[in-house]
Amino acid sequence: MADSVWTIMKIINWTKQYFEAKGVENPRLDAEVLLCAVLKCQRITLYVDFERPLTEEELAIYREYVRRRGNFEPLAYILGEKEFMRNTFKVNKATLVPRPETELLVESLLKAAPYLRREGDVKILDIGTGSGAIIVSLLDYLPHAKGVGVDISVDALVTAKANADAIGDVKERIGFVRSDVFSKLPVEKKFDIIVSNPPYIPAGDIAALDKDVQQEPVTALDGGEDGLDFYRRITAEAAEHMEAEGLLAFEVGIHQAEAVAQLCRNAGFAKTAIRKDYAGIERMVFAVKTTKGGDAYEDMLLEITREL
Ligand code: SAM
Ligand code: GLN
Repeated sequence: MADSVWTIMKIINWTKQYFEAKGVENPRLDAEVLLCAVLKCQRITLYVDFERPLTEEELAIYREYVRRRGNFEPLAYILGEKEFMRNTFKVNKATLVPRPETELLVESLLKAAPYLRREGDVKILDIGTGSGAIIVSLLDYLPHAKGVGVDISVDALVTAKANADAIGDVKERIGFVRSDVFSKLPVEKKFDIIVSNPPYIPAGDIAALDKDVQQEPVTALDGGEDGLDFYRRITAEAAEHMEAEGLLAFEVGIHQAEAVAQLCRNAGFAKTAIRKDYAGIERMVFAVKTTKGGDAYEDMLLEITREL
């Protein structure tokens, strides 16, 4: 009889093996995180209480979570949230799950902001905002910044707005626009920073992505034949939406940084710089628009691309 009781320890061990057999990447960790979501507890509690039996109700919820994860649904979709910078963002099937690399892009821009505008409001545009992770974080950390988040997906914008409403006083300084890249943005409105983590996976590579990533919206991933479609479109139009002195900042896919930097220079941006991510992959491209010439913004580019 005792054997049929599912204790915390027993169910974690069972789930770990089940996930392992399926090929889920972090089997034990995911088993524990999902159980914590059901029991609304910290992971440490699982170890303290490992003989605690689960109720029928808890088991039913947990089984459903395990089934979903076993089908490679991203953990963040099951939990409905993902940590990014110092906040928790709501996420769902309409939004990409924000990545740790993208935090590096945000950190670079936090360092850049004071160079671009020492007084008053820094105005920031985020193209392809998804969950709003980039623009909402920037506004949360920069109390004098104002921002606009753009996406083609209404469902993503609903989520981004919910995140803006929930985090600090961001909602008073942010606007959202449904737009195909710049199409709905008047050129009269100028920004100091334009940032984008656009879809950048080459279309032909999507079928080979991890099963988890393939459950994210294809409109968030597909960057056209060579993955560079959005960089071409954004670099072509960015300068006219910028103040005379401005910074264009991109996250890019593997092996794309040089090509994207070249697109920026071709579009008239004076200087470009590249920053690597935690894995040593060239992951971010920055380009300055300036009327000052010479070495203007050299210090800024050095500082924002410095390795940790
Ligand atoms: N900024 C978020 C982040 O870093 O986590 C999401 C980035 S996701 C890679 C790209 C986003 O671009 C998606 O939210 C997608 O809906 C949006 N997108 C795709 N095509 C677009 C278009 N033509 N115009 C505007 N946004 C677009
Ligand atoms: N970072 C995503 C990945 O890991 C790609 C997101 C994008 O296309 N910008 O595949």
